Amino acid sequence: MSSSPVSSPIYGTFARADVRFERGEGVWLIADDGRRYVDFAGGIAVNSLGHAHPHLVEALKAQAEKLWHVSNLYEIPGQTRLAERLTEATFADRAFFTNSGAEALECAIKTARRYQYVNGHPERFRIVTFEGAFHGRTLATIAAGGQPKYLEGFGPKVEGFDQVQFGDEAALRAAIGPETAAILIEPIQGEGGIRVVTAQFLRMLRELCDAEGLLLVLDEVQTGVGRTGRFFAHEWAGITPDIMAVAKGIGGGFPLGVCLATEEAAAGMTPGTHGTTYGGNPLAMAVGNAVLDVMLADGFLDNVRDRSLQIKQSLAGMLDRYPDVVSDIRGEGLLLGVKTVGPNAALIGEGRKAGVLTAPAGDNVVRLLPPLNITADEVREGMERMETAMAGVSATAPALKSA
Ligand SMILES: *Cc1c(COP(=O)(O)O)cnc(C)c1O
Repeated sequence: MSSSPVSSPIYGTFARADVRFERGEGVWLIADDGRRYVDFAGGIAVNSLGHAHPHLVEALKAQAEKLWHVSNLYEIPGQTRLAERLTEATFADRAFFTNSGAEALECAIKTARRYQYVNGHPERFRIVTFEGAFHGRTLATIAAGGQPKYLEGFGPKVEGFDQVQFGDEAALRAAIGPETAAILIEPIQGEGGIRVVTAQFLRMLRELCDAEGLLLVLDEVQTGVGRTGRFFAHEWAGITPDIMAVAKGIGGGFPLGVCLATEEAAAGMTPGTHGTTYGGNPLAMAVGNAVLDVMLADGFLDNVRDRSLQIKQSLAGMLDRYPDVVSDIRGEGLLLGVKTVGPNAALIGEGRKAGVLTAPAGDNVVRLLPPLNITADEVREGMERMETAMAGVSATAPALKSA
C-alpha cells in the first residue's frame, strides 16, 4: 500500500496547500505569517459575503448567547422565518433545512422518488443526470454524479441513476423510460469546470419533464443565492424547477443547506418520511436570515453583474496577453472559470505566490469565486495579482510558448 508519511492524524483525503489562515476581513484572508491574500476561492463559493461580515458576525453572536440547538422536536421560529423568506423569493412552497449540499441533494432525490410513489408510480425511481456533474460525496450523490474517480472502491453504485452526455438531448430522451422519476442538473456545472447549460436546454428540460410526468430537480448548491447575478441561476432561463437543492452561499460560511420544493412535489414528505438532528438549528437559521437581509436588499445583485463584467473584461485582456497560459474564459456572474493550457494547479500555485487564492475545477479550469459584495477596487487588486500569476506560469512554461 502506498501512503504518504504519517505526519498528520487527519484523513489523507485532501491535498492541502501549505498555508494557515488566522483571520479574514471581507475579500482578504490573513495567514499566520501576516501575509494578506485576495480570496477568490471563497471557501469554494461559500463565503458569499466575504469573511467576518459585521451583520453575520452580529447575528451569530446574538443567537449564540440565547440558544444553540433544540432539535426538530420543537418549533424553531428562525427556521419558519427563513423558509417563509425563501419560498417568498422563489418558485418553492416548502423547505427542508440541512447542514450541507449533499444532504440537500439527498432530500431532493428522496422527495422526487416519494412524489412518484404517492402518485401511483412506485416503479418510477430512476433519475437522469449528466456527465461531469457533481452532487456531493454521500453514497447516493456519488452515484448521481457518476464520476468513476469518486465511485471507485466504495462498493456497488447506488441504483437508480442514469447518466447522459452533457447537453445531449437525443441521449437524454433515449435514457427516459417507464422507471424514470426525474431529471437532475446543475444550471452551471461547478466542480465539473464551469460548464454552462444553455437557457434553451433548461427550457427544453422543463417541457420534457411536463410532457413525461417527471420532476425537474435543480442542483443550485453552487449557482444559487446570488452567485450568477440572479437570486437563482434558473431565473436567467425563465423556468422554475419542482425541487431545488441549495447550500454553500446561503450560510456565508456557516454549514447550511436547504431543499426547496413546490407544494405538489413535497406532498409525499409526511411526518416520519425524512429527518435531521441538526438541520435548521437556531445558529444556522440566524446566519441564513442575516445573509438574506443583505442579499435581498434592493440593488445587491447589480453589484454581482457589474463586478462580473469587470472581471470578464480583465480576463479577456489576459487571454490575449497569455495565450500560452489561458485558453478559455467561462461562467456567469461571480462563478467564473479560466481554462488553462497547462495544468490548472500551476496557475493556482502561482496565484498563491502572487497573493490571490483561486479554486480548481474539472476540465482543467481555475475557478474565481469572489464574495458577491466585492468592490471595483478589490477586483482590480485581485486581477493585478492574477496577471502576475499568469506571467509566472508563462515564464516557467517556455516550452508551451514556442509550441
Ligand atoms: C459543493 C456541491 C455539492 C455538495 O455540497 P457539500 O456541502 O460539499 O455536501 C453538491 N452539488 C454542487 C453543485 C456543489 O457545488
